[in-house]
Amino acid sequence: MHASADNDLRCRVLFGVDTITALPEELARLSKERALILSTPQQKNQAEHVRQLLGNAAAAVFSGAAMHTPVEVTAEVMRIVAEKHIDCIVAIGGGSTTGLSKAIAYRTGLPQLVISTTYAGSEMTPILGQTEDGEKTTLIDAKVIPDVVIYDVRLTLSLPPDISGTSGINAIAHAVEALYAKDRNAATSAMAVEGIEKLARALPVIARDPQDLDARSDALAGASLCGRCLAQVGMALHHKLCHTLGGTFGLPHAPTHTAVLPHAAAYNAQAEPVAMQQIAQALGSDSAPLGLYELGHTVKAKMALRDLGLRRADLDRAADLAVRKPYWNPRPLGRDAIRELLQNAWAGDPPQ
Ligand code: NAD
Repeated sequence: MHASADNDLRCRVLFGVDTITALPEELARLSKERALILSTPQQKNQAEHVRQLLGNAAAAVFSGAAMHTPVEVTAEVMRIVAEKHIDCIVAIGGGSTTGLSKAIAYRTGLPQLVISTTYAGSEMTPILGQTEDGEKTTLIDAKVIPDVVIYDVRLTLSLPPDISGTSGINAIAHAVEALYAKDRNAATSAMAVEGIEKLARALPVIARDPQDLDARSDALAGASLCGRCLAQVGMALHHKLCHTLGGTFGLPHAPTHTAVLPHAAAYNAQAEPVAMQQIAQALGSDSAPLGLYELGHTVKAKMALRDLGLRRADLDRAADLAVRKPYWNPRPLGRDAIRELLQNAWAGDPPQ
C-alpha cells in the first residue's frame, strides 16, 4: 500500500500506511515552526510520538481534549496558544480532538493538521459542535476546515474493537442521511453508497481481527467518504436526535448514533423507498433499518439507549427537544411518532 495525496481547494489529504512520517514536511510546507499538539488523555502516547517526530517544531502538547468540545477546555487551550506563541495546530485523534482543533482555528485562524484516528469524519467537514452549560450548538464555517488531513491506517489499529464498530456506524449515519438529503446529488449519493459498502464490509472483519490492515484501510477510506457527505449535504432527524441525546443528556456520541440509526431509518423508510433500497444494497441486506440493526449487533454494540445512560423519564423531554425547532426531514416530524421511535431505541427493540 502506498501513501497518496490529493488536493482540493482547501484541504490537502494524505492517505496510506505510515503517512504520519510526512508530518514534519507538511509543517515545513506551511512554513510553521511552533506547533501545539492536541489529543485526548487516552492518546497521550500518540501525542508524545508526534512531539518526537516534530522535534523543535513542537512547542507544546495538550492531552485534555474531551467529547462534545466543552468551551472551558477550549478556553484553557487558548491560553496555551497565547503563552507559547503557537503558529499551527496538530491534532491526533477522533472527533473530540478534531473538535478542539477546529474550536481553536475558529477563534484564531491558525492552520490545522489533523491526523484522524477514528471514523467520525469530522476532519472532512466545516462543522463545529461546541457545548456550553449543557447545550450543544453547531456552526458551519470554512475557517474550521483543516489545511492538511493525514490518514495513517496503522494508527487506527489501536482503536479498540468496540469503538471501531460504533465509530464506523457513526460514519454510516452520515451516508444514510446523505442518501435522503433534500440537497443530495448524484455525486454525494455515489460517495454515500461507496462509503457504506466499504464500512459494512470492513467492520465485521475488524470486530474479529482489529489488526487486519486491509479492513482498517477500507474502513478509514469509507469513513472519509462519509465525512465528505456530511460536509456537502444537510442532515435530518437522525443527526438531530443524536445531537440532542449527546448535548443535553450526555450520551456518548458514536454509540448513540449506532443505537438510534436503525430506528431513524425506519421512521423515514416509507418516505424514501429509493434511498432505503440503496442503503440496504450497500449493506448487503434486504432491509435498510434491519441491516443497520444487525450490523450493530455484529460489531457487538449496545443497541439500547437505556444501556448508554438514558433514563426512561428522559424520553418525553428528548422527544420535545427533537421537534422544538423545525428542520427538514423526509417524513414530517411528529412528536408522538418520534417519542415512539425513541422508546424503541431506548429498549433496543428491532426497528419497526
Ligand atoms: P473520540 O474522538 O472521543 O474518540 C473516542 C475514544 O477513542 C477517545 O478516548 C480517543 O482518544 C480514543 N481513540 C481514538 N482513536 C484511537 C486510536 N487510533 N487508538 C486508540 N484510541 C483511540 O470519538 P469520536 O466518535 O471520533 O468523536 C466524537 C466527537 O466528534 C463528538 O463530540 C462529535 O460531536 C464530534 N463529531 C463532529 C463532527 C463534525 O463534523 N463536526 C463529525 C463527527 C463527530
